[in-house]
Amino acid sequence: MSSPDQAIRKAAVLNAIRHDGKADPGAVLGNLLGENPALKPKARELMQSVQRIVKEINSTPLTQLTREASEKWPTDLTREKPEEVRKLPPLPNAEKYQTVVTRVAPNPDFVLHLGNARAAILSHDYARIYNGKFIVRFEDTDPRLKKAQLQYYDIIREDLKWLGCTWDQEYIQSDRLSIYYQIAETLLHKNAAYICECKPEQWKTLVTAKKACPDRELGIATQMERWGKMVNGSYGEGEAVFRIKTELSHPNPAVRDWPGFRIVNVNKTPHPRVGSRFRVWPLYNMASGIDDHELGITHVLRGKEHLTNMARQLYLYRHLGWTYPDAVHFGRLKVEGMNLSKSRMMKALEVGEYDGVDDPRLGTLVALRRRGFNPEAIRQLMWEVGPKPVDVTISWDNINAINRKIIDPTSHRYYFVPDPITTDVSGVQADMEVHPPLHPQYPKMGTRALSLKARNGGTKLLLSGSDRTTLATSKTVRLMGLFNIQILSFEDGELRAERLDELAPEADVPILQWVPAEDKLPVSVVLPDASETSGFAERGIKGETVGSVIQFVRFGFCRIDKAESDRVTLYFAHN
Ligand SMILES: [Zn+2]
Repeated sequence: MSSPDQAIRKAAVLNAIRHDGKADPGAVLGNLLGENPALKPKARELMQSVQRIVKEINSTPLTQLTREASEKWPTDLTREKPEEVRKLPPLPNAEKYQTVVTRVAPNPDFVLHLGNARAAILSHDYARIYNGKFIVRFEDTDPRLKKAQLQYYDIIREDLKWLGCTWDQEYIQSDRLSIYYQIAETLLHKNAAYICECKPEQWKTLVTAKKACPDRELGIATQMERWGKMVNGSYGEGEAVFRIKTELSHPNPAVRDWPGFRIVNVNKTPHPRVGSRFRVWPLYNMASGIDDHELGITHVLRGKEHLTNMARQLYLYRHLGWTYPDAVHFGRLKVEGMNLSKSRMMKALEVGEYDGVDDPRLGTLVALRRRGFNPEAIRQLMWEVGPKPVDVTISWDNINAINRKIIDPTSHRYYFVPDPITTDVSGVQADMEVHPPLHPQYPKMGTRALSLKARNGGTKLLLSGSDRTTLATSKTVRLMGLFNIQILSFEDGELRAERLDELAPEADVPILQWVPAEDKLPVSVVLPDASETSGFAERGIKGETVGSVIQFVRFGFCRIDKAESDRVTLYFAHN
């Protein structure tokens, strides 16, 4: 057995032991090249040997493989541990409840982004793990500042379905105002809330000094009368606020007697779903706090920025004799080089900095979807991050690596030459057709066809502009799956070359992708910075459906976004 075969056998046996006796050719080749980088230029030739050896190993009993490994490579064998099965930590007090009920509560004033995906995926997956219930609740009770937009309810539903977070029940808070009004009256009757007419400045001075405002101690009858005036329109916007009584000595002034309802001039800013039917709107903590109880939520999973909200809501729960759900607060999730602040994204969109919510520069789920990210990659990422309370920063390298592992085995390969260099190759006497595989590791996927026309003893093809330097400095290059060429001249952007057949197959020369000049398809690729690169690809990608992810060899993974008769547009995911 020659020495590369020996190295392949070792990599394959160890890989098979890790995976129940079945080695994966791609992984074996990867390990092999990782340990012997010098073999990289020969990857394509090696793959044939890898496939042959893996086939043999996969039909050998696992016990025999383990015996072989323990004799020949004992130290490597102990290093090879089975991949850890990722687990989420248990939910607190799950056994206390008959059914675990979780929720995700988006405000449809924007679409979901990577940061929101964590709460959505963890809430959904915990509900499934515990055989519980997962609820989607649209929190759309701010027609003035965080105004919902009709199209976002649907995009968010799409986002959640895409993530695989199917829900058992859906609620929309703007349908539930009468429930909140009833609770408001209960609180007033319990002397647990009051209607405050203070001007903002006056209120601020009092609350900073931990002092009650004059409205706080008015009798229940007066409070009920004022509530009536809020609802019937006697007060204008900002003239009265419904406040929950808290300890005025609470260390955080923002918790002291927090506002539960306010008046909105809905003639000026109507609600997109219910128009101007209601003028009194619950604030976030009121509506969310009531609903978590009313909908029987047992576990709330959210970012730690909600800890102050919890402090506020605990007063509401105490007044009403309710038990607060078990809350899990996780740390911030940052993605290197990306702003996930919703308000920042919305502002930038408004001023036209981005083309839309699916602009490739954004971390929204629609944008990631458009670029060809797989929802399973986002799920794996969120399981990796989990619900831990510390802040986590993830890099794009990390996200891309997870996604690559998922999309690589199913992505068909094609050649693409951006910024093409016209190349004349002499020494081609007859028309040629070659059939490279759609996937080098999975021959069963089939092949594609590239045909070259012979004219006057030569043929024309296109090479990638990104190989300009390589072409200017090399004497010989190999054209993938075709033949080798000797470069004769490279002047005025035109390359002249001669077909070269006698080159040794293992010669260490650059291997380049190419496209036939007479059988090509104009292609544009939208890059992550929203710029575009154009060139030509194999005509074969016309056979792929819009929405599928392919790999342009030596360029990267791209999702087909649009197919017109004369041009295909793709979005770049990563390389
Ligand atoms: Zn007041």
